[in-house]
Amino acid sequence: MNIIIKRGRGRKNLRMHFDDHGSLIVSAPYSASQSLIDSFISSNKEWIEQNAQKIPEHSYATGDSFPFFGKTYPLYVFKGERGVFQRDDGLYVFVPRVETTSTVKRELYRFYCKSLYSYTQERLPLFCSQMKLPVPTLEICNAKSRWGCCYRTKGLVKLSAITATLPKDLIDMTIIHELCHLVYDGHGEDFKNLLKTYVPDVKEREKELKKIAKSGASRNLF
Ligand SMILES: [Zn+2]
Repeated sequence: MNIIIKRGRGRKNLRMHFDDHGSLIVSAPYSASQSLIDSFISSNKEWIEQNAQKIPEHSYATGDSFPFFGKTYPLYVFKGERGVFQRDDGLYVFVPRVETTSTVKRELYRFYCKSLYSYTQERLPLFCSQMKLPVPTLEICNAKSRWGCCYRTKGLVKLSAITATLPKDLIDMTIIHELCHLVYDGHGEDFKNLLKTYVPDVKEREKELKKIAKSGASRNLF
């Protein structure tokens, strides 16, 4: 489990909560010692176990299943020339040796990257012309705890490969969210208004996205 300790001046007590991506956030005053924090965590073991996200364990073998563009597909692993193919009834992975799960994992990661890249490249010109923005450079990365990020001054948008697990309307929202960061840095009122202009049902979609993040289905994939 990923544990993040956040220290702050205004904090008087130790507190903990899980964020949307399943990390345990422990807030502590600057004065709290590491051993105090450790014993706080261990004395709340039961609560942590009850509230921790159920993160799927993947076997990367036939019988496993993976979420892809909003649907869950059974996984089939075969011996053959490297490649991944998506059909209506499953994701088919071909590798030189079916026992080498690290290769299956790597092939899946590459497939998710490639699929998300081509989908997003197709959508970007449309969204950018609606928003009157120059088309940014797109990169797909292996971030585990965020769907995307934007480097405004570089004109660069990065999406995490796990975003390819989402249904298309949520991928679109994620793309538009990052495009809004080409205009505004934070998540202030101006940002929210801009996002709402291009995603009128943003509230519902964000709720849906939160639900998926909380379910843990997009975690521990590659
Ligand atoms: Zn943002």
